Amino acid sequence: MIRIATAGFHHESNTFSTVPASLDKFRHSGWLDGDGIRAEYGTARTSLSGFLAACAEDPEVELVPLFYTHLTPMAAITHEAIGVIMEQAVGVIRDNGPWDAVLLPQHGAAVSETWPDPDGEFVRRVREVVGPDVPIGVALDMHANVSAAMIENADITTVYQTTPHIDAFEQAVLCARLILRMVRGEIHPTTALRTPPLVVNILNQGTSDEPMASLMRIADAERARPGVLTLSVVEGYPYADVAEMGMSFIVTTDDDPALAAEIADSLAAAAWKMRAALNTGGVTMDAALTRAAAAAAHPVALFDMGDNVGGGSTADSTFLLHAARRLGVSGLLQAVYDPDAVAACQKAGVGGKVSFAVGGKVDDMHGTPFPVTGTVTALSDGDYEETGPTHGGYRFFSDGPSAAMRTDDGHTLVLISLPGGTRSLQQFRSLGIEPREAKILIAKGVHSPRPQVEPIAKEMIWVNTPGRTSADLSTFTYRHRRRPIYPLDPMAEG
Ligand SMILES: [Zn+2]
Repeated sequence: MIRIATAGFHHESNTFSTVPASLDKFRHSGWLDGDGIRAEYGTARTSLSGFLAACAEDPEVELVPLFYTHLTPMAAITHEAIGVIMEQAVGVIRDNGPWDAVLLPQHGAAVSETWPDPDGEFVRRVREVVGPDVPIGVALDMHANVSAAMIENADITTVYQTTPHIDAFEQAVLCARLILRMVRGEIHPTTALRTPPLVVNILNQGTSDEPMASLMRIADAERARPGVLTLSVVEGYPYADVAEMGMSFIVTTDDDPALAAEIADSLAAAAWKMRAALNTGGVTMDAALTRAAAAAAHPVALFDMGDNVGGGSTADSTFLLHAARRLGVSGLLQAVYDPDAVAACQKAGVGGKVSFAVGGKVDDMHGTPFPVTGTVTALSDGDYEETGPTHGGYRFFSDGPSAAMRTDDGHTLVLISLPGGTRSLQQFRSLGIEPREAKILIAKGVHSPRPQVEPIAKEMIWVNTPGRTSADLSTFTYRHRRRPIYPLDPMAEG
C-alpha cells in the first residue's frame, strides 16, 4: 500500500483588515480531524475533496486525512493561532508517519503575525519532517502569493486555473496523480517559478474575460508541450502587504529544468505585455445604480468590489444603500452583516415592525449605518446548503442567526450575524426570498458570486465601491511589498 498523509490550513489574509484571524475564529469555523474532513469534504469540490477522490480511485493507495482548518479571509493570522495551527498540522504528520507522500491543501495567500509566509513555512517544516525523498504535493488557490519556500520544498504544486474558482477539485486530483506517479518512480518533477513585478487588478482576474482569457490560452498551448507535467498561471492576491504579493508562474516538467525555465519566462513576458489591460477600473456607484434602475430587464447584479467578503472585507458596507437612497433608486436586495439588527428582528418576530440603522459598524471604511424602518419577513439559523456550482467548490454555509426584512422604502435586506459574501443564492432563498425577482441584486464580491449570479442576472456591473477590498489599489498604503511593481510604481517600459 502507498500511504499518504494530508493536513493543512487555509487562509487568505487581508492585511488591510482590522479583524484578526484568531484561534477562536479558526476553531469555530472548522477544526477537523479525519472523520470531520471526510464528512465536510467527501462530497464537496474543494482541493481536499480532490485529494480524497484521487486516492480513493487507486486501490493501492491509502490517504489518511489528519487535520484541516480554514477561515474566511480577514486580517493576518494571530501569533497565538499560527503557533497552534502550525504545531498541529506539522505534528500530526510527524507523529503518524512514516509516509510515502504528503498532500497539502493550502491557499497560498496566508499571512501571520509570526511569519509573513506561513504557507511557505509550513511546506518547509513538512519537508524537514519527512526528509528529502518523500514527495510533497501542494494545491493552491489562484490568489496565492507564491513564495520560493513553497515551491522549493514541494515536488508538485498545482493551482486553480479558473477565477471564479470552479476547478479546485480537478487541480487537486492532478496534484495527487502526479505525486503518485512520482512515488512509483515514473516521473522526476523539476519546477521553475517566475514572479514578474506585476499586480493583476481584482476586476481583471476573471479567466473567461479578456485579457486573462488570452493569457490562459497561451498557457494552455504551453501546457500541451511534451515534457510538461503541470503549469500554473497564478493571479496573486493584492490585499496582502507582503514581499510575494503579485502575479507568478509555476512550470513543472519531467526532469527538464531548461524547458521549465523557458516556458516560465515566456509566460511572464506574455503577462507583462498585457500589464495595462490587466489593470483597468470599474464603474462608479452613481453610474451603476442609474444604469441598473433604468434597465429593461431585471435583476441587474451590482458587484460590490469594495466589500468583497471573500477577499477579507466586512460584509457590512452601506455605500450602495446610501447612494441608492440619495438617487431615489429602490428595489435593492442585499445581505448586511449586523448581529444587533438580527437580534432586534428576532425580538420583533416575523411580521413585526423594526426600526434601526444597519451595517457600517465594523470599521470606518464601509459607510455609515443605514437607517431603515420595515417589516421582518423571515428568521433562520443561517445554515444553508448549495448543491449547484460555487466558487472553490464549497457546499455548506453558515451566516449565523439571520433575518430578512422589507424596508418601507422598497429594499429587501438579509441581515446576518457572521460575515458572509454572495457565494450561494441560498443565502436569500433560505429566507424565502427569490433573487430572480429582485430589481437590483447586490453581490458582495468580485468573482466568487459569479457561478451563482451569472445564470440569473440580466446584466452584471462591477462597481468601484470604497472598502477593504477596493479595486483602486492606490487607496492602500503598502510597506512590505516588492518595489517596483506595476501599476503601483512608475516603471521602465520593456
Ligand atoms: Zn481565490
